[in-house]
Amino acid sequence: HHPSLTRNKVGYTRRDYEGRVSTLCAGCGHDSISAAIVEACWELDIEPHRVAKLSGIGCSSKTPDYFLGASHGFNTVHGRMPSVLTGASLANRDLLYLGVSGDGDSASIGLGQFANAMRRGVCMAYIVENNGVYGLTKGQFSATADRGSKSKKGVVNSDSPVDLVALALQLGATYVARSFSGDKAQLVPLIKGAMSHGGAAFVDVISPCVTFNNHAGSTKSYDYIRQHNDAVSRIDFITPRSEITTEYAPGELVEVRQHDGSLLRLRKLHSDYNPTDRNAAMNYMQTHQARGEVVTGLLYVDPL
Ligand code: SF4
Repeated sequence: HHPSLTRNKVGYTRRDYEGRVSTLCAGCGHDSISAAIVEACWELDIEPHRVAKLSGIGCSSKTPDYFLGASHGFNTVHGRMPSVLTGASLANRDLLYLGVSGDGDSASIGLGQFANAMRRGVCMAYIVENNGVYGLTKGQFSATADRGSKSKKGVVNSDSPVDLVALALQLGATYVARSFSGDKAQLVPLIKGAMSHGGAAFVDVISPCVTFNNHAGSTKSYDYIRQHNDAVSRIDFITPRSEITTEYAPGELVEVRQHDGSLLRLRKLHSDYNPTDRNAAMNYMQTHQARGEVVTGLLYVDPL
């Protein structure tokens, strides 16, 4: 049998968790996240009809069309996915709620919605596909764009970025993780954890926009992330332009060369990292961030 035809405990193949064919740009990080969601749901033996997937507006928010074709879905208005999801979850508590959003959707127009969903402990897996750019409207800076980074047109961003992981930690989310779209070995377990969590679970996934924000100087580019990722031992990523496999150990710094020549530096959590201390998570993250490193892995989970 082809692996996609192997049946899980509830009798479904991976194909049963797929959706329509993606219309995103070839090489977009978001398609890898859709594939990770398919894999996570198959491995968790979740029947597709038990999932409700909700999104807002943006390239990321188009992706629920590309996975779990047999689940319930609602494509809401810009930045309003969390409140529509909250309402749906109050009406039907039997479904598993998966919110898919982007940095424009959740860190700009929907920042208040994001904050209150985390604060209220809405039972959901909240995935942000973070590329620091408005891809759908052709490359404006989003609220997570790095200060000093350059747009494709050469404009320099002078604003400070919003860090959704730091916010989620501060606001009381009970499961907080960061990963990279090209690191399936790390991303699938983190999504499985979020979907099984039973509280407000937030996963920030750095997901390069190959069309508008994959150049040097951007911490949301493939190169940067490949250089800074840690916590799982390898990254495999295939772009239309290149094929990259990097092996590294937990705690290791991985540097990724971006299109414009700059480096993205990812550090995976050290193997002895304790994810049950909220303040320690904040300190760990900020210490590494001050060195220009982006920390990936499960940063915090409520031990109770
Ligand atoms: Fe992905 Fe960017 Fe293309 Fe949108 S514009 S589909 S984010 S690569």
